[in-house]
Amino acid sequence: MDKKEEIHRNICSLLRRIADAAMQCGRDPEEVQLVAVGKTQPIEHIRHAIDAGAPIVGENYIQEAREKFDALVHMGIPWHFIGHLQSNKAKHAVRMFELIHSVDTLKLAGELDKQARKAGKIQPILLQVNISGEPTKSGIDEQQCLELVGNILPLENLQLQGLMTMPAFFDAPEKARPYFTALRMLRDRLNQQLGIALNHLSMGMTGDFEVAIEEGATLVRIGTALYGGRQ
Ligand SMILES: *Cc1c(COP(=O)(O)O)cnc(C)c1O
Repeated sequence: MDKKEEIHRNICSLLRRIADAAMQCGRDPEEVQLVAVGKTQPIEHIRHAIDAGAPIVGENYIQEAREKFDALVHMGIPWHFIGHLQSNKAKHAVRMFELIHSVDTLKLAGELDKQARKAGKIQPILLQVNISGEPTKSGIDEQQCLELVGNILPLENLQLQGLMTMPAFFDAPEKARPYFTALRMLRDRLNQQLGIALNHLSMGMTGDFEVAIEEGATLVRIGTALYGGRQ
């Protein structure tokens, strides 16, 4: 089977699995969107995924994303940034991405706000939370979250829409469930304490997205199950 056909089949199967997982737990399938994670994949593969119906493209690296974005922006679907973002790349991020999942410092938020203001844009963002508490992972811990949210809310050119997490890799998806539950509960607590309405939960990848959907994911970020191994 050629790559185009393989990607097409994988997209169809993923969209069905996502909708099935949502319906199985009584959620509206429209509430859960696939982010097709394209890191290390060539432009052609991303194009095949968009042709096959991928609703959103996700990228991890600004440099890599710039080339792909410029080649494929005319296809008219949203691009999301999901990788670690350095403040000095904020300007590029604001130009390309409809949603930035990985904000984890006030410094970065401030720079995004500034660049968004210059561009005349309100930039939607998510906060990345290190819910499993691993020292090697980026993201803020739960304690820092309330404070950071409080500091970000006044920034007029940012729109905070929710939380993102990337737990440790587990051999069984059920082992990730407590972390997905914890992210949902954190979002609900923030909404209640601050009187806000954060909606998005970006959580779940190839190995565990169905469990994440059961726990409330609105954005699942999937690479391997779509494109196969990374290049
Ligand atoms: C690579 C990556 C994914 C996709 O992971 P797969 O296991 O290949 O589906 C999701 N989120 C982030 C932040 C990633 O870097």
